Amino acid sequence: MNGFRIGYGEDAHALAPGRRLVIDSSPVGTVAHSDGDVLLHALSDALLAAYAMGDIGQYFPPSNPNYRGLDSRVILQTVLQRLADQVGEFRILNLSAVVVLDQPRLGPTRRDIQRQVAGELGIDVSRVGVTFKTSEGMAPDFIQARATVLLHTE
Ligand SMILES: [Zn+2]
Repeated sequence: MNGFRIGYGEDAHALAPGRRLVIDSSPVGTVAHSDGDVLLHALSDALLAAYAMGDIGQYFPPSNPNYRGLDSRVILQTVLQRLADQVGEFRILNLSAVVVLDQPRLGPTRRDIQRQVAGELGIDVSRVGVTFKTSEGMAPDFIQARATVLLHTE
């Protein structure tokens, strides 16, 4: 398992009034089985994919009521632990993520999002690239995220 590994993940959730967006205090939130944080879900899948370990749906099946409203940070930390168990010590060299959302505009929250994600991963903020796009009205009821990670094991 030594050497470089790249991982890619995607996620999307429907937006609905009265739910929290997690990464923003918007009046619109996501409809999801867990807390619906698309960025952390895409990132968790990317980490698993880097080592061909499946996806978060396998570890947290939506059919299991125990995972209703589950904090996405718990999902991410569980994934990091599974990776450590399976591949040993690994380093996350950098993360590149895209969040697609029409409203609200996330630009002003970029630093905060970078800080939160870096904190969860235990890496420097300079290794967490986050870009924001809109769907230009093509998917106004959805929030989507895509994430790529580069990892290294000795
Ligand atoms: Zn999700």
